[in-house]
Amino acid sequence: VPQKIIRLPEEVINRIAAGEVVENPASIAKELIENSLDAGAKRIEIAIEGGGSAFLQVEDDGCGMGREDALLSLERHATSKIRTERDLLALSTMGFRGEALAAIASVSRFEMRTSEGGEGTRIEAQGGAMAAVEPCARNRGTTVSVRDLFFNVPARKKFMKSASANGAALSRMVETMALACPEVSFSLKVDGKIALEIDRQERKKRIEGLLGPMSHEAKGAGLWGLLAPPDEAKLQRRGQILFVNNRLVFSPLISRAVKAGYGTRIPDNAYPSFVLFLEIAPDSVDVNVHPQKKEVRFSEEGKIYRLCEEAVARAFEGPVQPFSRPLAFSEPLPFSLAEESPPLLHQASSLGLDFQVAERPLAIVDGYLFLQAEGLLLVDLRLAYARVLYESLKEKQGAAQSLMWPLETEVEEEGMVEELQAMGIECRLIGKRRLAVDALPALLEPSDFPDFLQAWVEGKKRLDLAASRYAKGTKRVFTADEAYLLWKQLLKCRDSLYDPGGRRIWKRVEGEHLKSFLEGR
Ligand code: ADP
Ligand code: MG
Repeated sequence: VPQKIIRLPEEVINRIAAGEVVENPASIAKELIENSLDAGAKRIEIAIEGGGSAFLQVEDDGCGMGREDALLSLERHATSKIRTERDLLALSTMGFRGEALAAIASVSRFEMRTSEGGEGTRIEAQGGAMAAVEPCARNRGTTVSVRDLFFNVPARKKFMKSASANGAALSRMVETMALACPEVSFSLKVDGKIALEIDRQERKKRIEGLLGPMSHEAKGAGLWGLLAPPDEAKLQRRGQILFVNNRLVFSPLISRAVKAGYGTRIPDNAYPSFVLFLEIAPDSVDVNVHPQKKEVRFSEEGKIYRLCEEAVARAFEGPVQPFSRPLAFSEPLPFSLAEESPPLLHQASSLGLDFQVAERPLAIVDGYLFLQAEGLLLVDLRLAYARVLYESLKEKQGAAQSLMWPLETEVEEEGMVEELQAMGIECRLIGKRRLAVDALPALLEPSDFPDFLQAWVEGKKRLDLAASRYAKGTKRVFTADEAYLLWKQLLKCRDSLYDPGGRRIWKRVEGEHLKSFLEGR
């Protein structure tokens, strides 16, 4: 009987192994970036085309390799990072399996240029077979270029995602890896254009620059991290980033521990977003349980779980900080403006306004007035201003204020004077194109008049459009007195609910609004 079993050729072995390490362009980038970091790089430049499967290059300024090492590096199980099994217990590098380069080279057209400072070496391989080895010029460092990924593995190629999905996943991978090494700068070019430029910077700054503001800081023995606000918890785990001894890994255990630490602050089905860095003795963590070194196992699971849960829970202790960004509040409003502000009372009575209703202005936040009157009212001050301005100009009611000096401005046509005067704007023409304004209705600030004029001309002299457009663009900041006066004036308008552009000016804040606001719907 002929022998049935054969030993597979090295190239076939590599290609099979590649299935485990090389999943997609993002996983290739991860391996190559880890190599660059292991080589002590301070700057890593990545470039991709076609989402990384047509072309993917990682260039670093690390220690580089001499000719013999470069040749060996492409062989399977060739590594400079461990020598004996015992070294596995004290890993300080990301790599150790010596598989990545061999695997990547076996499923692509591969080129490496590397130098330790002197003459460089260029190696070319096609589907794992060495095609050229020659000297080349290169500064210290290493460039690995991968073209036509899976060109010789059609079955794998068929299952590749679209270029844009691959590119997006790769870009996210670069950003994520950059979180752990703020002292290294990164850049990513996509189809010839710079897509990411991550400069050296302090760790917290880098994290917030890449992931957005974080609300809490977790600290424990060997543990440091930043936690996103509970209300930003996601329905996916994507926002959960864990580094164990600076290696990006996934750990369901720690994921659960952090969630427990957030406690009842997030719903059952949501995942909190976080970045955690755990430093533990290398011999109490096994990184060798997954070919992509993605998952880890801890020897003291209970201890690690408690460490994480307690650190997160502690981060939330102490005074509550409900807002990640401070709100711009007005100065505190007095309990009853009307009684305590005689000038306001005087102004109001001259306008025929009534202050007798039991109302209480509460606060002004970013141009909105909160008012307590049979419930809570929310008033958009700009829209209120538009309505009041519109009606007062239309009816020529506004008591004109004489200007100390006439305000001069260019106009495009002579016929405007009459129309402006009809709105209570006292003006005259100097020469053909200069308009001199002598008095303005109280609601129009002299300094803002040119803006109003422009809005009016742009709105084809329709006062409703002009008032609405002008008020919307105004940078005016309303003081508490002005805001309250404006509200009283609004109540006297023919239509006090909508601005002249048809937008709702104020609303009663009902229980449902608050409910949906709090629940983020
Ligand atoms: P591992 O990283 O697990 O050792 P790799 O296949 O990724 O295995 O790399 C093999 C070897 O090639 C590494 O141990 C290292 O000595 C060398 N090497 C790879 N990439 C670089 C690089 N960018 N700079 C310097 N040396 C490198
Ligand atoms: Mg490696």
